[in-house]
Amino acid sequence: MEQVRTRFAPSPTGALHAGAVRTALFAYLVAKHSNGKFILRIEDTDQLRNVDNATQNIIDSLKYLGLNWDEGPDIGGSFGPYTQSQRLDIYKSWANKLITDKRAYVDPYSKEELEALRTKAKTQKKPFLFRDHRPTKFETWNGTKPLRFLSEPKTYKWNDAIMGNLSSGPESIDDFIIIKSDGFPTYNFAHIIDDYLMKISHVIRSQEFLPSVPKFLNLYEALNIQVPIMATPPQVLNENNSRKLSKREGAKQLLEYKKIGILPEAMINMIASLGWNDGTNNEIFSLEQLVKIFELSRVQRSGARFSEQRLLWLNGYYIRHLDENQLLNKVKSFWPKSATKYSKEYKLKVLNLIKERLKYLDEIPKLSEFFFSDLPINNQLILKNSSLSKLKTSEIVDLLKKTKASLMKSDFSIENLTEKLNELLKLTNQPPAILFSLIRIATTQSPASPAIFETLNVLDKDRSLKRIDALINNLSEA
Ligand code: GLU
Repeated sequence: MEQVRTRFAPSPTGALHAGAVRTALFAYLVAKHSNGKFILRIEDTDQLRNVDNATQNIIDSLKYLGLNWDEGPDIGGSFGPYTQSQRLDIYKSWANKLITDKRAYVDPYSKEELEALRTKAKTQKKPFLFRDHRPTKFETWNGTKPLRFLSEPKTYKWNDAIMGNLSSGPESIDDFIIIKSDGFPTYNFAHIIDDYLMKISHVIRSQEFLPSVPKFLNLYEALNIQVPIMATPPQVLNENNSRKLSKREGAKQLLEYKKIGILPEAMINMIASLGWNDGTNNEIFSLEQLVKIFELSRVQRSGARFSEQRLLWLNGYYIRHLDENQLLNKVKSFWPKSATKYSKEYKLKVLNLIKERLKYLDEIPKLSEFFFSDLPINNQLILKNSSLSKLKTSEIVDLLKKTKASLMKSDFSIENLTEKLNELLKLTNQPPAILFSLIRIATTQSPASPAIFETLNVLDKDRSLKRIDALINNLSEA
């Protein structure tokens, strides 16, 4: 069997979102599952829709997920160039071949003339087909007018590796533009030439192209090119309505998830589940595992929902299960500024404490700031605490003083802190909801923190006592 070669062929018309990247992931997995090659091709032939930086966004998005390509615009390969605007001569020579074979002709109509023909068909309640209006004599092509494919309407039956057996009638085939008046090819033409020249074995692309497959089949025939395996994954839908995930529907750019600290592992799992499962209840797969087990035959036909909630759950899972050092490495850019001067060991301790509650890495500053710097005293924290707000200031100060006295005698090991604070509960005759909340607020200036014993242990004795003192002074002055 020939080598499996798949491609991701985005148009640089905007930033990638999860729906588009799902196509890339499936194409990557199909290639790697069979030790094949994954190719990145930039389809920039629609000059009006090209957006600056979109190619860079595509590259960065794929790199974020670790979907590395074997051939592509930035790294080259044996079948380059991999950017369509750099392949215009290739398309031209294939177009000339079609002209010679009488399978392409110059479109002689002006915009207005075409519009008039369309309107006429409409008033006659007939579908407009260009092939009903072919010119009787073909002009010579000088590149300034569009070139159309001369189609041969017929019935087709074909198999889609995901959607199964499909068929179409002659009415879905018409003469379509292959080279536009600006000299650029259309997608309909260029991708067929490129897939052939780049030896693509599997064309994996989104549902929007399915209705066009009959015309592609007609063109493959005219060009005498063998049709690659086609696979069309189901639509990716919005979480809240059943509409296709799209920029217009508020789909986030993939790189926004990177920015807030969604680990690539979690995103890969979320995206892999969009229309695929391994037949078990497993939800956690590494990219390597996916490469081993992914099969197109297990991709479903009905739409799949992208869920941010599930993504956060998966992210939390990876945050808690990744190896400590690996995680430490991944969170590097997310620490608050105040963490700069702290050692790796200290940060690791903090990370181990906060990671139970961490859903995405950008929450790290909020959850960890107090481990690195003294936050200003916020009396609202006491006033807003339903148990503490019932106490008089003098009672609170008294509790803080007793806490200080007890903690001064502690070596701040977790065991000893547990012992001392439990004694203190008895001594003050207060429930943890009061005493521990107060200690938490005094030492962290936050309404919530990891377990109090562990928090104090990491903060250390000196800093904890200083903060308790500061609150005593603050309240006594009030
Ligand atoms: N350039 C097309 C797009 O971005 C890709 C279609 C394909 O994968 O063949 O929608």
